Amino acid sequence: MGDLQTFLINPLLTSALVYWGLSGFWLLFDLFWAPKDRIPGGEIIDWSLYRKTALHVLKLQSTTPIVLYVMIPVWKYRGIDTSWDGLVSLETLFKLLLCPLLSDVVFYLSHRICHLKVFYKHVHKKHHEWVVPCALAAAYTSFYEYLLCNLPTFLVPPLLVNINWYGAQIWFVLATVSIVNDHSGYTFLKSSVHHTNHHKYQNYNYGSSHLDSLGQTTWSPKKRN
Ligand SMILES: [Zn+2]
Ligand SMILES: [Zn+2]
Repeated sequence: MGDLQTFLINPLLTSALVYWGLSGFWLLFDLFWAPKDRIPGGEIIDWSLYRKTALHVLKLQSTTPIVLYVMIPVWKYRGIDTSWDGLVSLETLFKLLLCPLLSDVVFYLSHRICHLKVFYKHVHKKHHEWVVPCALAAAYTSFYEYLLCNLPTFLVPPLLVNINWYGAQIWFVLATVSIVNDHSGYTFLKSSVHHTNHHKYQNYNYGSSHLDSLGQTTWSPKKRN
């Protein structure tokens, strides 16, 4: 398999399939299940923002092939293992367990930086147009945020631990599923309630619940802006 197939076409197709497939699944909920179980404030779905979001995400993701292309020499510099044999090993499993922990730290810190007054307006305000988000809004960000926050959250962990390439693909799928579900906006998903409280109240719930409790940024009904 050539480098373009391995490092560009395959991950591009996989991530697009997972992002749009799962967003499509949640769209069915938004069409046929809402307002039942929607997080309060999100019962009425703004369909014109929904359409705007779909177009914006498509436009943003159209730059992904360039990013993946630029990353090829970086993966090679790290000497990443591209063998299928290396996938099924305790080492890959251990590294796969480390990826979400590292990603939480990268996301929490970069997200807090996005909320600094100096960056908020031009970098992060777009993502907060959704107060109670829908799944598709997971990647509704400015280009700067996509480049400086979202991509590092995905790419830094596998680069740091130098995981087997197919292990990295599993990580990309798991991370995409997690971020899309967090934006679904339904009360039966605890992680979505946690992240929606960030969209609603801004200065709380920047990342995963354990990092928010460590950083004392967990939202509770007593803490209001
Ligand atoms: Zn969000
Ligand atoms: Zn935010």
